Amino acid sequence: MNFYVMTLFPEMVMQGLNTSILGRAVERGTIAIEAVNIRDYTTDKHGKVDDYTYGGGAGMLMQAQPVYDTYLAVNEMIKKKQEDARTRVIYVTPQGKTFSQDMAKELAGEGNLVFLCGHYEGIDERVLEEIVTDYVSIGDYVLTGGELPAMVMIDAIARLVPDVLHNDESAQTESFHNDLLEYPQYSRPEVWRDKAVPSILLSGNHAKVDEWRLEQSIERTKRLRPDLYEKWEARQK
Ligand code: SAM
Repeated sequence: MNFYVMTLFPEMVMQGLNTSILGRAVERGTIAIEAVNIRDYTTDKHGKVDDYTYGGGAGMLMQAQPVYDTYLAVNEMIKKKQEDARTRVIYVTPQGKTFSQDMAKELAGEGNLVFLCGHYEGIDERVLEEIVTDYVSIGDYVLTGGELPAMVMIDAIARLVPDVLHNDESAQTESFHNDLLEYPQYSRPEVWRDKAVPSILLSGNHAKVDEWRLEQSIERTKRLRPDLYEKWEARQK
């Protein structure tokens, strides 16, 4: 799967995503991540990519031209790799639909994804109308730029791409799978600060362990996320 990030801060995106599990997946060729600098595509001779907003108001706005030309360049990059260059273009914005595990699962089925990161006051509406297919937010708060939201989304999506995680099962049992939070987990030693690992986990009885884990997941979801628990309960009926 190929991720393209249109940004004014490509080094921030690459530093954040080229480490640990995703970094190894990139090395193996399971995923590819390319951050494309919008400033490289401005036609302004001083390298400017932003300007004042019409109608007044504080702050600067990213202009349509450099964003659109970056988009065309990314399309060419995709075409070079494959014939079908159709791709979703996700504008990360506090005004979008809130990102979720279900959305991550759905997007993990795409071959290419393009992320557009805004900065300053955002981006000229006309280029958004022209190129964006999805408006997605990571939550109801405002950040200075779209780089962190794009990185959050790419991380969540990429780990659902087959062979990115070593053990495919780990994505299957994690929080939000089946609308439940994950059960508590323990590692060595068996006793730490007088706290013992629940004995069922040492029993070797896998059926009982599974049963205990499900009970714990249900109890934890009910206590910490009653909204999710209601969804899970409705599905059981
Ligand atoms: N003026 C914009 C508004 O009120 O909707 C906010 C602009 S924000 C300061 C700059 C950029 O950060 C946005 O264009 C967007 O790309 C990104 N951003 C900020 N908060 C975000 C969030 N919660 N989710 C996704 N992207 C966000």
